[in-house]
Amino acid sequence: MLVVMKKAATEANIQAVVDAAEKRGYVARPIPGGDRVSIGILYNKGSVDSGYFLDFEDVKEVISVTKPYKLVSREIKKENTLIKVGDATFGDGSLPVIAGPCAIESEEQALTIAKAVKKSGALLFRGGAFKPRTSPYSFQGLGEEGLKILAKVREETGLPVVTEVMDCENFAIVEEYADVVQIGTRNMQNYSLLKRAGKSKRPVVLKRGMSATLQEWLMAAEYIMEEGNHNVILCERGIRTFVKHSRNTLDLSVILAAKKESHLPVIVDPSHAAGVRSQVIPLALASTSVGADALMIEVHHKPKEAKSDGAQSLYPEQFEECMQKVRSIHSLINS
Ligand code: PEP
Ligand code: MN
Repeated sequence: MLVVMKKAATEANIQAVVDAAEKRGYVARPIPGGDRVSIGILYNKGSVDSGYFLDFEDVKEVISVTKPYKLVSREIKKENTLIKVGDATFGDGSLPVIAGPCAIESEEQALTIAKAVKKSGALLFRGGAFKPRTSPYSFQGLGEEGLKILAKVREETGLPVVTEVMDCENFAIVEEYADVVQIGTRNMQNYSLLKRAGKSKRPVVLKRGMSATLQEWLMAAEYIMEEGNHNVILCERGIRTFVKHSRNTLDLSVILAAKKESHLPVIVDPSHAAGVRSQVIPLALASTSVGADALMIEVHHKPKEAKSDGAQSLYPEQFEECMQKVRSIHSLINS
């Protein structure tokens, strides 16, 4: 249930609602955003007597929430959540692009790619220091050394950095270096990791599990928000189907459905959906047409030598072409 306060509600009257809810054994979470405060009433078993809260000072209305996810739902918050990182805003209709290699391999590699993607208009740099690899014999990432390289990239280029956190053990160190932490597809239902991310001050890119339904994905975001971190960016990266013509199948319609159900920004990673370079630009354009809030694209200056995901990494010139085409489509659909 959601208690919507009047615009001019006083702190004391907001607190009175929170206290009353907690006295009744519920958890009350004030929800930021918009021009008024709303209070989510959670952990109620069965329905809550809405009339009880309507009697409080400065309460405008009480709305029942019918979905299993609460804090992520548009029922609770109608306006888009805007997440600002550096010069980028996620969720405001602009289309920030995150770009960089799959993995950080060396300072020279990271800086070369970062400078190139910045020149083409990327607003954030990505690169994994801790890599979730299918084979234990594949390159696992540079670990802390990779994080230090990311910090150097930020210092030299001014680009905020996005990097994956794989476990609770390394969370503290990853959030120390990263501007945005990424939870990968394989960890979308790692509930202890989600709870830990909920305690972080960093925005979280939550990739959709490769076989997760929309509801499971949103419930995963709910775990993060329930712990207090409201800056969650949902990322569609392709789901596992029976096809062999691409690594995964980009679920374009989930962008529409997720944006309808949730106020959180929904971004797309066409690189991991494609698995092959030739499909990345068309899928980026399709995602833009469907209303993605941002794109995340893998770029490598020497993809043949890349330690991971070289086949799907764009050359810097292709990334430039991608940015130009994405901008054209974006202005066309917004005209
Ligand atoms: C990545 O972004 O490099 C990555 C491993 O992504 P995903 O979790 O979507 O496979
Ligand atoms: Mn990758």
